[in-house]
Amino acid sequence: MSLLVVGSVAYDALESPYGKVERTLGGAATYFAVAAAFFTQVKLVAIVGDDFDSKDEAMLRKRSIDIEGLERASGKCFFWAGRYSENLNERVTLATDLNVFAEFKPRLPQKYCDSKYVFLANIAPDLQRDVLHQVKCKPKLVAMDTMNYWIERTNAELRETLKHVDVLMINDAETRQLSSEHNLLRAARHIFKMGPSTLVVKRGEYGAMLVDRDGVFCVPAFPLEEPHDPTGAGDSFAGGFMGCLASVGSTSDAALRRAMVYGSVLGSFAVERFGLERLLTLKRSEIHARARHFSKLTQFKL
Ligand code: AMP
Repeated sequence: MSLLVVGSVAYDALESPYGKVERTLGGAATYFAVAAAFFTQVKLVAIVGDDFDSKDEAMLRKRSIDIEGLERASGKCFFWAGRYSENLNERVTLATDLNVFAEFKPRLPQKYCDSKYVFLANIAPDLQRDVLHQVKCKPKLVAMDTMNYWIERTNAELRETLKHVDVLMINDAETRQLSSEHNLLRAARHIFKMGPSTLVVKRGEYGAMLVDRDGVFCVPAFPLEEPHDPTGAGDSFAGGFMGCLASVGSTSDAALRRAMVYGSVLGSFAVERFGLERLLTLKRSEIHARARHFSKLTQFKL
């Protein structure tokens, strides 16, 4: 089933206790698309400048990512720089240069307008809504991400967008901030009143939790001895989650549980190396092997 993503395609400068890269392809939509493309074809809506490298374009094309919706503008690509703390749990943003992203008005090519699965990566909530308006037939599932910036500065816009979304995928701090509830289950109940019927809370090294009206499902994060760079882990999680659902065309409870595991698998691979490096060498067989490992990791007898 067709899967559409809108969000940032960027160049990132990354620094962690494990090393440093000056400039590497990043962006929320890029991580999402690369992760989801292991499961299904992905249609990408984003904007790049004239410094967008032809090798990066070739990489996206090679991976069953449709880039007809990747707009070219004169100017530079979105640039983001971040540095991680010793334990990789905290990061400081060193630079956010919007560049061509400042003028971004998402335009969906005609053939994207019947997408059945839609992921609105972390961008301004009015742009997220604008994309949804352009999807003509009602999608089977709409999921979105957001961040503290939009929760604080464009709360009314965000709430309007949330009315049209099925799954909200955010981290624990954002969940607490959006709902003004510390307890995540109470927070979920609060968020259901805003529109989404499912909340996926991404909890970094503590895994992820899905809450819907049927109950709660938790997955651990895959235990890694040496994660190198958490950039894009959440977007890769979202790509694995949505790609998995779109590939089976189902949103049943069983499908959502499997999607949580594949989300966690893709997130775990993303953090093993800097930037997209690990996802670009990843094989489907490794993904399935790690999913089986997850199953062993969480099995027990009563
Ligand atoms: P995450 O680690 O999930 O926060 O995603 C990091 C990716 O998001 C990086 O590759 C950045 O290029 C991109 N990014 C960082 N800040 C923003 C922002 N304000 N809007 C859109 N994308 C961003």
